[in-house]
Amino acid sequence: MKLLVASAITLSLFALTFAQTNQAGAASSSGAAQAPGSQSIRIVRGGSRPSLQGPTEHFTGSVRVDPLFQASAPAHAAGSLITFEPGARTAWHTHPLGQILIVTAGVGCVQRWGDPVEEIRQGDVVWIPPGQKHWHGAAPNSSMAHIAIVEQLDGKSVDWMEKVSDVQYGAPVRAQGPATPQPSAQPRPSAKAIGDLAPKLAELTDDVLYADVWERPQLSKRDRSLVTVAALIAMNRPDQLRSHLVKARENGVTQEELIETITHLAFYAGWPNAVTAIAVAREVFQQK
Ligand code: MN
Repeated sequence: MKLLVASAITLSLFALTFAQTNQAGAASSSGAAQAPGSQSIRIVRGGSRPSLQGPTEHFTGSVRVDPLFQASAPAHAAGSLITFEPGARTAWHTHPLGQILIVTAGVGCVQRWGDPVEEIRQGDVVWIPPGQKHWHGAAPNSSMAHIAIVEQLDGKSVDWMEKVSDVQYGAPVRAQGPATPQPSAQPRPSAKAIGDLAPKLAELTDDVLYADVWERPQLSKRDRSLVTVAALIAMNRPDQLRSHLVKARENGVTQEELIETITHLAFYAGWPNAVTAIAVAREVFQQK
């Protein structure tokens, strides 16, 4: 069984020709060659597909593979959820028809042979073109999980190559997002707001409070916004909350999530604080 599982992973990486999935398919469609129009909907229940370890032959570090689906013919896509512990990664490999990675948690890396290492984060969707030598995995200090979707060509969806060495893995990472912002391109937020009256306070605010602490990979910007907004609500700081609600929206927190945050905090931070926060939120959301 172990050998079977290992060879299935070898065959198709994150898209296992997975015995259990196939059995489920055969059971519900009761016959191999049903016409597409007569196939019924199939639900493979969560928890019914055992997790597997990524084989050491093709992975470095601790990698868990949770098979998700193996489409029935004539479709030929397959998908799995892969979870990499910090430092874990695939070996170098290619996919004959390419691969889609949907990052569902954490911070990780992807690199095409010859290109810089790119940072990837929860919510990112990555397209690996056919035949491109690449690897993907977790960041050194953060786990990362992605759904990987591949299509098979002649029954094959991956070609494995050599391991990613520690030196290759340790290469500088290009952070996500557009090219590094030009320092002079935009007036800095605090310089604009208070720089005329208190230039030093503006400088400290822009250089420390809003600086690289927001860029650190241990916590996403979205999560940093939620934490900051929660603190400002609890401390009843409507002036600072105003600008941080704007920033939270920019960092991907939805209006509904912010309202829910305020509602939730009413119990912990006190009803008057929540009501003040709602008034500020109304003002911010109306501005759009
Ligand atoms: Mn890949």
